Amino acid sequence: TPTVVKEEAPSVEDFFGRESELKLLSSVKEPILVIYGMAGIGKTTLAAKAFPDAFWYPVREGDGFEYFTWQVGLYLNRLGYPDLIEYLRAGNIEEREVFEIILRGLEKTGAVIVVDDFHRCRDERLGRFIAFLAEKMKTGKVVVLSREKPRFGVRGVFYLKLDGLDVESSYELLTAKGGSVNIEDFAEVYRLTRGHPLALILFSQAYPGSVDAAAENFFEFLLEEVYERLSDEEKLLLQIISLFGEPLEYEAFKRLYGEKSLFPVLHSLLRKGLVERRSDLYFIHDLVRGFVERIREVDEEKYYRKYVEYLMGKNEEGAFIRAFEYALRLGDEELIKRLVELRLRKFKRLVRSFKGPYLKVLSAGRGNPYVDLELGHLYFQNGFFEKALETWLGVKGKVEGIFKADVLTSIADAYMETERLDEAERYLMELKKIAEGSSDPEIRLWYYMMLTKFYYYREEPEKAMESAFMELKILRDMGGNPELESIVLLHIGDINSWMGRPEEALKYYTEAIEVARLHGLSFFENLAHMELAKVYYHLGDYAKAVQHSSRAVEYFRRMRNYRRAVDSLGYRCVSFIGARELEKAEEDAKEMIMMGQSSNYPLTWAGYIFLAVVKNLRGEPWEEYLALGREKMGDNRYLYEAVLEELSRVFDVSTFK
Ligand code: ADP
Repeated sequence: TPTVVKEEAPSVEDFFGRESELKLLSSVKEPILVIYGMAGIGKTTLAAKAFPDAFWYPVREGDGFEYFTWQVGLYLNRLGYPDLIEYLRAGNIEEREVFEIILRGLEKTGAVIVVDDFHRCRDERLGRFIAFLAEKMKTGKVVVLSREKPRFGVRGVFYLKLDGLDVESSYELLTAKGGSVNIEDFAEVYRLTRGHPLALILFSQAYPGSVDAAAENFFEFLLEEVYERLSDEEKLLLQIISLFGEPLEYEAFKRLYGEKSLFPVLHSLLRKGLVERRSDLYFIHDLVRGFVERIREVDEEKYYRKYVEYLMGKNEEGAFIRAFEYALRLGDEELIKRLVELRLRKFKRLVRSFKGPYLKVLSAGRGNPYVDLELGHLYFQNGFFEKALETWLGVKGKVEGIFKADVLTSIADAYMETERLDEAERYLMELKKIAEGSSDPEIRLWYYMMLTKFYYYREEPEKAMESAFMELKILRDMGGNPELESIVLLHIGDINSWMGRPEEALKYYTEAIEVARLHGLSFFENLAHMELAKVYYHLGDYAKAVQHSSRAVEYFRRMRNYRRAVDSLGYRCVSFIGARELEKAEEDAKEMIMMGQSSNYPLTWAGYIFLAVVKNLRGEPWEEYLALGREKMGDNRYLYEAVLEELSRVFDVSTFK
């Protein structure tokens, strides 16, 4: 889980003018409010003044929609709306579902989100999301700040074009920043700047001095003037900041610049309007960066290297991806290797939850075996098994140690997913050799995870069980991976259930629930509830089956996980039938059918069959429902038979043949 990097609105200390804009903003009815205008004109400052409690999301060039949703998820969670973060933690990122979950969160909490620097956004999903909100949102607000006027093409968007400050406010700003200014000079400056606040601030730093040389490129002129007056330390720090296209934390500066004299130098730059601050983040305005980039002389590599080390130390997914970006820019093979190892050990889920952004970063390093190894994982996650296999087979001979172990694990996995067990076994044997010769528990764990899966596919439950227990033992010796632990416990439950040992299955599912609950892993907790429901149903304890499936239904419905919701609904429905609570069974059956209309998950159509059962038991006409169910499931004979098989425990299905 990434931590929130940035969330508060920038604090506004000296603020001048903008009375009419503030009045206007407070009365806007539209759910989306766009403030656009040139760089440095005061968009951020105005929005921060108007919406001091907003959640602040500054767009960075490379960030995808995933970053946005995680940040918003964590924010809404703090406002008492956990749905989004739970949804994401379960590894989901379905566009439409995310849209709706955020919409509901904003409506419930009345939150205001500011999307700053929207013109930097390269991910169309954010724009689509804003257009979606424009049409649907009733309470809550999203404020979009942009240099160019974005066109969302829907109603529900209010546009405000921002110009410079009026004469009085400009004068106030200038005198507040730089002391007294000659009135004739002021007139000339106002003519040149037209109240552009950043230009005014720079001017105040360059004043007194000549103003005239200005007309051609006033900014450049001002920046040169101001820059020349800086101390050497200030110049160095400013150059360092300009190396990074993103805001940096104070801690990062400590690493880059050194602690000594950092504070006074940074604050002097802040006072001069060259550096800006947003809670703990410092950055320079693009206009200033453009200038400093042209005159920069510092050793880029040295600073990028330091920054990568800093980011790696943060132990956080977003930081990890940024570190990778800089490592690739440096083209440093050792660094890339270290990063991939870190990913394999610490950020296993990143290839799922940050697919998009990670792919974007990795693309720059295609051809490097460690990068290709990672690309293989992304292809695999996207369901391109053949492409993943081809990539990994190409990487296999080029890497060693933990990387080789991962490649073998992945190849075996891909062969299993595509049901080529003989090939899978070959690579599994190769992996076994590495695992046995290694003292690295991680590698041994991977081996047993694959082995369990292999025996599962081979339908050898005893061996699968033995291997699963090895997993559990290694995991517990390693300590601290509750997510994997609950997954393994679930698997052990499944295998027991498969071997016809319901009591044992109950024991391990219950243990899975405990581990998951203790660590806030709601998804796995509810998965286990669903499995418990199944076992209780098979044992004929319908009350308990209803109790556990109800928890799962409620959770998966809330998470918009339709498949799982339908699975759990199905078990609850047949349990109600078993208990002869026909009214409730009917409700569930109807809900399943309804879900069938909006998803294409074939099990939903079992709802018709369950409805037929209910009608039959009541002595009402039932044939047409059965026919409908059969028709809808038509080409899925296997599923139909499986549904009847489960039903046969509570109903004489021979009527249906
Ligand atoms: P933008 O977001 O449009 O690029 P900013 O809001 O960052 O512009 O403003 C640029 C600079 O001008 C900042 O240093 C900010 O503090 C200052 N500034 C902008 N508007 C005002 C204002 N109304 N009063 C005082 N200072 C302002």
